[in-house]
This record gives sequence, structure tokens and C-alpha cells, in this order.
Amino acid sequence: MVSPVITRFAPSPTGFLHIGGARTALFNWLYAKANGGRMLLRIEDTDRERSTDAAVAAILDGLTWLGIDWDGEAISQYERADRHREVAEALIASGHAYRCYTTPEELAEMREKARAEGRPPRYDGRWRDRDASEAPADAPFVVRIKAPLDGDTVVEDHVQGRVTFPNKDLDDFVVLRSDGSPTYMLSVVVDDHDMEITHIIRGDDHLTNAARQTLIYRAMGWDVPEFAHIPLIHGPDGAKLSKRHGALGVDAYREMGYLPAAMRNYLARLGWSHGDDEIFSTEEMVSWFGLEAIGKSPARFDFAKLENLNGHY
Ligand code: GLU
Repeated sequence: MVSPVITRFAPSPTGFLHIGGARTALFNWLYAKANGGRMLLRIEDTDRERSTDAAVAAILDGLTWLGIDWDGEAISQYERADRHREVAEALIASGHAYRCYTTPEELAEMREKARAEGRPPRYDGRWRDRDASEAPADAPFVVRIKAPLDGDTVVEDHVQGRVTFPNKDLDDFVVLRSDGSPTYMLSVVVDDHDMEITHIIRGDDHLTNAARQTLIYRAMGWDVPEFAHIPLIHGPDGAKLSKRHGALGVDAYREMGYLPAAMRNYLARLGWSHGDDEIFSTEEMVSWFGLEAIGKSPARFDFAKLENLNGHY
């Protein structure tokens, strides 16, 4: 039996719901609805300094205003840290990860050496095959993934196609910090697995992360979900969307009096299309939405078009 579609929206609560995040949420929602599936909401609140309750409230509020609902309770990633640590231990036990006692000074030296030789800084793997008993007692350590030294990791992506990453470029990345806190790279895989996510639809700034995450899925013997990495949104001048292009927060458009239906229609068309159609009802979007119709080049945010669309609602 084919498993039911489960998507997720996984915002970091460090500010308001911005246009890019709202579009990601909408695509996940549309894909779930189009396939009779579910969309879950996970608040990625592991950055304790930058995450705020006000931002969580603003994101939930923005989604609700847009008419994007989620199934079940919102899940806090931070509250799952014990489970993430448990998986880090399992990775060490199976030989897919290791404790690394490299000191900050040694890391700085490594970076300096790479800079002098004109190559990207990379951890040199000095603790890959050493035993923890060689480290000074009580020395702090991080846990790193033992990335394969050769071969490639291939990400089959619904938008980007087949993307190949040489394993040597993936580095022995950190999954647990020296204070025992899990990194995004680990938490996201454990949560997506435990939440039984089948499709990960998110910005293409996460494409390289997908390769690193694939290494963790494989190391744990877990199924790798389907990926769809959507090109980021650009402003009318072709540069990545930023404040100078105008308001970035969904709440600003709400305050300006835009209607949620116009906003939904507009956001859907930032990267997804259905022929030359411009105006669709939510029912039409749900019935037509598919990952194959998401474009490979960045969508442009065009204020005039949004203004124009708003007139139709
Ligand atoms: N929390 C991440 C972000 O806001 C999303 C991570 C993901 O979708 O995997 O960029």
C-alpha cells in the first residue's frame, strides 16, 4: 500500500511569517490537500537565543489568517532534544558517527591552513578513527557524522531533478554540540522520520542539507523522504527578495487590507503555475497542484501583480 502523503511546515520562530515561509507553507498545504494527506507543523525552536514565543504566535496567526491549517498540535523541536541525543548515540554505536575532541584552537589552525592553501575549510577527520580513551579525561567533545570518503550522495528532487554531491564535500558535519545540544541537521531528520513525513517541500537553500540529511537517514536504515526544493523568491530586479523590495511579512499585507484569498492565489503563483491561468479559487489550486509544475528558476515578487489580483477578490 502506498503510504498517505504527510508534509510539514517547519519554521524557525525568529520573526514574523515572511512571504517565503508563507509560500513554503502553502505549497505543503496544497500538496497534502491535493493528495488527501496531512500537513503537520513543527516549530524549529532549538535556537534558544533567537526563538521567541511572540514569533511562534505571529507565525500561527499568519497561517490562520491565510487559511492554512495543520493537522494535530504544533510540535516543538526543542522539546524533542532527548530523542535527538538518543539517535546521536545510536549513530556512534553503529560506527556512523564519532566523538571529536578537536579543540577550538586546532579548528582555527585547520581553517587558517585551508585559507593559506586556497581551499574551503574542512574538518580534517583527525578523530574519525581514534578512540575516545585517547582524549584527556572530561575533555569536551562534539559528535560528527563519519561521511564516506569517496562516492557520491544523490538527491532525487521533484523540482531540481537528480543532484549529485561528492561525499568528500559533505564533510564530517556536527550532529551534537559540545553542550550536548543537537544541531538542525540531526533534529530535522529525526523529527521528519518520527513524524512519518513523506514529502519535504522547502526552499532550495536547503538542497545541500538534503544530501547531508540523506547520509543520516541511510546510516539509521530509515527511508529517505521525497524532496522538492523550491527556488527562493527574488525581487523585481532579480536579486534575492529582501527588505528593500518592500514589506516581507505577511502581516504587513494583512494590515494593508489585502484579502487572504488574493494572497493565497498570489503566493501559489510564486513558482507554481497552471498553464497561463492567473486567478484560481482555492479549490482549483488544490485540484491542480503538483510538484512537477513548480518552476526551476526563481519566481519574482511583483507588487503590482498582487495589487491587481486583490482587485478580483
Ligand atoms: N527551520 C528551517 C527554516 O526555517 C526549515 C528547515 C526545513 O524545512 O528542513 O529554514
